Amino acid sequence: MKQDTTKHQGKRRQLVLVLEQKGITQAAVLNAIGDIPRHLFLDSSFVDHAYQDKAFPIGAEQTISQPYTVAFQSEQLHLKPGMKVLEIGTGSGYQTAVLCHIGAEVYSIERQHELFRTSLKRLPALGYKPKKLIFGDGYKGYPEQAPYDRIIVTAGAPSVPEALLAQLAVGGRMVIPVGEANQKMTVITRTSDNDFQKLELGDFRFVPLLQDKN
Ligand code: SAH
Repeated sequence: MKQDTTKHQGKRRQLVLVLEQKGITQAAVLNAIGDIPRHLFLDSSFVDHAYQDKAFPIGAEQTISQPYTVAFQSEQLHLKPGMKVLEIGTGSGYQTAVLCHIGAEVYSIERQHELFRTSLKRLPALGYKPKKLIFGDGYKGYPEQAPYDRIIVTAGAPSVPEALLAQLAVGGRMVIPVGEANQKMTVITRTSDNDFQKLELGDFRFVPLLQDKN
């Protein structure tokens, strides 16, 4: 169960075709999804369904994002190898693995300790080496390593956190789902110290970005 097999690889190829049909075109993103064993990011009760284009529970009332959503956000990041990326909401670590596979230097924050601990073990065990996984509140970002070329938020934010805008490099790009029950996928580019441009894409549904427990 806890390994990759040709059967899983075959199912991944099918998933890649599904994502292509849904409009994903970037080779780096499709290659990542074709290579990463998503079934090893799920509890054993869901492994047989791992290559369906669906979200699944991962514990702590959270979900692993649907592959299409991961692919869409990754594509909208316009990511290049070597870029410094801040991810909010490590969750299962699957999106983190996609960013690592594309060659990004990844800093990822998770506020649920159980999920943080699992990803801390899982990602290196599978050969993915984010620069740092952080247990903390994503609303605050991670100023220690700012500015970031790219910021990706994988939970629904009622509004765009100020701290994240402040930590985006000039010329940088943030992909964040904004809204309460449903979210508009929003791409924010920083055009100068004081100027940001905003583009709203389609509707998505994420678990909420939660405020600090303290
Ligand atoms: N990329 C993840 C998505 C997980 S769902 C995956 O595909 O597995 C969103 C995650 O955001 C959850 O794990 C949730 O605990 C986390 N989260 C919610 N609010 C947060 C916050 N303020 N700071 C950091 N993480 C947060």
